[in-house]
Amino acid sequence: MSLLMVEGLDKAFGGVIAARAVSFALEAGELLAVIGPNGAGKSTVFNIIGGQLRPDAGRVVLAGDTITGLAPRAVWRKGLGRTFQVAQTFISMSVTENVQMALMSWHGEAASLTASAAGLRRAEAIGLLGLVGMAEAADRPISALAYGDVKRVELAIALAGEPKLLLMDEPTAGMAPKERAALMQLVAGLARERKIGVLFTEHDMAAVFGHADRILVLMHGEVIASGPPDAVRRDPKVRDVYLGESGLAAANAAGTAP
Ligand code: ADP
Ligand code: MG
Repeated sequence: MSLLMVEGLDKAFGGVIAARAVSFALEAGELLAVIGPNGAGKSTVFNIIGGQLRPDAGRVVLAGDTITGLAPRAVWRKGLGRTFQVAQTFISMSVTENVQMALMSWHGEAASLTASAAGLRRAEAIGLLGLVGMAEAADRPISALAYGDVKRVELAIALAGEPKLLLMDEPTAGMAPKERAALMQLVAGLARERKIGVLFTEHDMAAVFGHADRILVLMHGEVIASGPPDAVRRDPKVRDVYLGESGLAAANAAGTAP
């Protein structure tokens, strides 16, 4: 059985079809990229999986449990980690305190500034920061970090919940190309070592074609192609409809990189 099974998702907003018969599976340790133009339905599918949206039809099965229609917190409890935007971190707190709060929340401990100040789960938090290459910034305020470093801390926060599946909506948005490659490499390494499945959307075709094991292409809410990067890159439908000249160049460059 696959780690994640998405079966026949339909979702309409009034007359707009945001998802139609969307089905796919994801294995533990695998990176699956969902791509498609703006409005293709990527966020809709993510929000259905994460519990923010209820589908009109279809189901989502995570590690054998049907999670369709569960609230986000319940889905998180079942093993789904999400990386959030900057606003989701506690901006006034230190890097370590942010991760401590996430750990306390996961372990059902009353999360408070006093508890984090008292050092509860501090060693564990620093361990997670080490995994994402941020141990040295442990005592800095989040607000002092560069954007790419905040993204790494968000990853540590997501890992605090021992996720089986990570959902990342445009993880490298706003990053410089070098930072993007480093973040994707980090995520890929963690996925493989910890057998975490990773589902991500991304506009940067180099990140997608360079790091995904498989790619799913959405268009007007429907899956128009899926498969390994090489097959998707060659798919004439994908070429016509979506990739375009610049996207293709990036996809090809990623494919031939060492
Ligand atoms: P993507 O993430 O691929 O850009 P979305 O899933 O955000 O696409 O959107 C898919 C379609 O559904 C778009 O046409 C969008 O305008 C519409 N849509 C998404 N969310 C809502 C909503 N809450 N209310 C109405 N329409 C929505
Ligand atoms: Mg979106």
